[in-house]
Amino acid sequence: MITAIICAAGKGERAGFQENKVLKELNGLPVLCYSLSAFSPLVDEIIVVCRKEEETQIKKLLSPYPNARLVFGGATRMISVYNGLKEAKGEIVLVHDAARPFVSANIISNCIESVKKYGSGVCALPATDTTVLSENGNIASVPPRQSVYTVQTPQGFYKDKLLKCYEKALQDGNEFTDDSGIYLAYAKERPALFTGERTNKKLTYPEDFVPAERVGFGVDTHAFYAEGEGAPFINFITLGGVRIPSDKILKAHSDGDVLVHALMDALLSAASLRDIGYYFPDTDPKYKGAFSMNLLEEVLRLVKEQGLAPKNVSISILAETPRLSPHIERIKESLSEALHLPESAIGVAAGTNEKLGYVGEKKGITCHASVLLG
Ligand code: MG
Repeated sequence: MITAIICAAGKGERAGFQENKVLKELNGLPVLCYSLSAFSPLVDEIIVVCRKEEETQIKKLLSPYPNARLVFGGATRMISVYNGLKEAKGEIVLVHDAARPFVSANIISNCIESVKKYGSGVCALPATDTTVLSENGNIASVPPRQSVYTVQTPQGFYKDKLLKCYEKALQDGNEFTDDSGIYLAYAKERPALFTGERTNKKLTYPEDFVPAERVGFGVDTHAFYAEGEGAPFINFITLGGVRIPSDKILKAHSDGDVLVHALMDALLSAASLRDIGYYFPDTDPKYKGAFSMNLLEEVLRLVKEQGLAPKNVSISILAETPRLSPHIERIKESLSEALHLPESAIGVAAGTNEKLGYVGEKKGITCHASVLLG
């Protein structure tokens, strides 16, 4: 039987956060959940060591993982792991820091294999930088780089052996920052290394929480006024903030910029926000005749609040009329300015619908937009 002990009792002080960093969201998911999902299918039991104050919050996160349960931690990582070890049912234990959410199935399997083969398995990476030992701000010695490794988690051991090491270390009052150090000192055995992954990094500082890239997709359709429906006396439609000469006029509460509406929904969706109808309801007289490019500015502000900004956008317009190809360059220029992106990051395609359906019958225009946020 194998137990994973996931340490989640930290305070996130180095990251300068008010809350525990493993409860912070990373791409919409609390950091702790990444480790739970990675370990759950590969081990028999998961023990999450947490602070008593966070019991309710963490319990909620455990509900999708029937093999996971809580144990309360202590004042230091050592006491926390010790509390977890005392409760573990597994013959083998893998100790992991919840602040390393990107641990892979490969790492976990290799850790287990290493324990079965060598009695221990410490996830580590060969140093890429030269490391030095310092004394009083000077370099005291330079260990040869090929023998220097940076140690990650998980670190796997036979439970009874590790538990004994912890008992002795705690009796002696010696402080260690990880399990391999305790094992080396007290098991009188050199822990075995196995190769980790660079992506298995520890989230430590606020910049580590910058979200990864996110895609978004949006669609909008506006109908043309039919004959006799009392179209306003204008001779243009607005696409991407550009006025385009047109015999047929789009019906809309705002300026009917179907392109910008699709784009705004794509941006909001990528940032996991609500849609434009939510932020700019067409029942609100404030948005009557609104210039959609102004609303786009507001949407970009909302996206920015999430720590995101568009990296590129791709737009496809379906219109039987008017002819759009002469206006594509101006639309790109206009979007480039509004999105603060080079034109090379903006794609705008326009096509007809081969006379099929409402687009083909010149009853309306549909626009699709994809965005990448980063
Ligand atoms: Mg619309």
